[in-house]
Amino acid sequence: MTDHITTVAGVAVDTRHWIGGARVASEETFTDVSPIDGSVLGEIARGTATEATAAVAAATAAFPGWAATPRAERARLLHAIADGVEKRLEEFAIVETSDNGALLRSHRRGVMPRVAHNFRFFADRLLDLGHDDFETRGHTNHVSWDPAGPCVLITPWNAPLMLATWKIAPALAAGNTVILKPAEWTPLTASLLADVTAEAGLPAGVLNIVQGYGAEVGEALVTHADVRRISFTGSVPTARRIAVAAGDHLTPLSLELGGKSPLLVFADADLDLAVDLAVEQYDNAGQVCLAATRILVEETIAEEFTRRFTAKAAALTQGDPRDPATDIGPNIHPRQVEKIDGFVRRALNAGARAIIGGGPKTDLGGLYYRPTLLTDVAQDSEIVQEEVFGPVLTLQTFASEDEAVALANDTRFGLAATLATGDPERAERVSARLVAGTVWVNCFFVRDLRAPFGGARQSGVGREGGTWSFDFYCDLKNTVTAPTEGVRHG
Ligand code: NAD
Repeated sequence: MTDHITTVAGVAVDTRHWIGGARVASEETFTDVSPIDGSVLGEIARGTATEATAAVAAATAAFPGWAATPRAERARLLHAIADGVEKRLEEFAIVETSDNGALLRSHRRGVMPRVAHNFRFFADRLLDLGHDDFETRGHTNHVSWDPAGPCVLITPWNAPLMLATWKIAPALAAGNTVILKPAEWTPLTASLLADVTAEAGLPAGVLNIVQGYGAEVGEALVTHADVRRISFTGSVPTARRIAVAAGDHLTPLSLELGGKSPLLVFADADLDLAVDLAVEQYDNAGQVCLAATRILVEETIAEEFTRRFTAKAAALTQGDPRDPATDIGPNIHPRQVEKIDGFVRRALNAGARAIIGGGPKTDLGGLYYRPTLLTDVAQDSEIVQEEVFGPVLTLQTFASEDEAVALANDTRFGLAATLATGDPERAERVSARLVAGTVWVNCFFVRDLRAPFGGARQSGVGREGGTWSFDFYCDLKNTVTAPTEGVRHG
């Protein structure tokens, strides 16, 4: 590493913040380590309140110019950013995999194209935003989507650039300026994005990126008086702290949080499909907020389901996420593996039985955890109630549709639910009764940016996606104009 540039898999990445269109270093740094092999990827600028203040000042200064930029020009620039991401897709993919350990083939085929699509979708949506004018006794009501101001966006490490751009794109499209704080375990692709936005011609200060720890620079950002929106994706405990901090200035918040989503498998389901859906929950080594980690199976088919699941899961390959043959890569950090294993140990001590897995896969090094399925778990036990965020699923059975729904809804979360059934009427009945932001019937992870996205209960506050993102990132205003003859009505 020289002059604040580190080279990751042949790609040069700047390790400094991006504030007001310039690279800014900090006095201190933190070490970014690859979960694949523990190698050091770089020494990253460790932001403090000083950099947070500078970034908010830059975003505040750039706001009037960006807010006044015609929609068509904002949309053009967002498409130019998407072009830049697509041009450097391979670099984004390999750097993200090096940094967070998710599969390279997923980054190439799914995640990075979606990053570009985030920009294209919200650019196009901006141009379609409604002109909802209407009349009241001769007066015109003109509804406008006014940009709100500087937005602080705080994101986690499990899908770093995808989740960051899912917020950046609508915030910028709406005419806001942005301060992004990426997760400290995965700082790199956000820095590459800064380069792409500069090349695309995004004006200085419209997008700012500060690196560092949540308790340091994150806290300084969410407590800042000039911030007009905070959008956060991460864990419930952090969300609580951010909500309290935002309360001081009543800064509007969007919170996308954890889950403990169910997969309901009815006896009338296509069993192979149901098994495929269940095994898919090990994707990204279980580090997926939407993962259906509680498998609920109708008792008459539980034995056969378990037999097929075990056979299918045994065929999964764990290993280097850059290898196309790998299905499950490493977990992100030793602390995360310790946390996952703690959940599993406590469950086993409490009487759970591991049908498969139940511990780390030590022959691959410290960060790989064996895909685990636990049964004999009580509904009120920790392993059923708390998010593990690793490749750990539980298996419970039910005797009736009512019991299935009761078990499914019995946690403090409500992010998503998946059900497998061959009966369309049952699908409709059960979907209507599930408490969840998204319900998938005989499918999983089909995401359309036009759809509302968010969680019920402690899985989140608010919805993003489609027009809902603009609802959040704009100050909606209604301007009522009297008829030209100027008649006043009460
Ligand atoms: P986390 O809450 O520990 O951290 C998320 C981000 O918040 C990081 O950037 C961190 O630095 C920052 N942060 C921490 N403390 C802060 C503070 N006091 N002030 C401001 N910022 C602070 O979460 P994580 O471990 O990085 O991510 C995993 C969690 O994210 C899981 O619970 C997962 O379910 C959730 N998640 C939710 C969604 C969703 O869309 N609902 C998507 C992905 C992940």
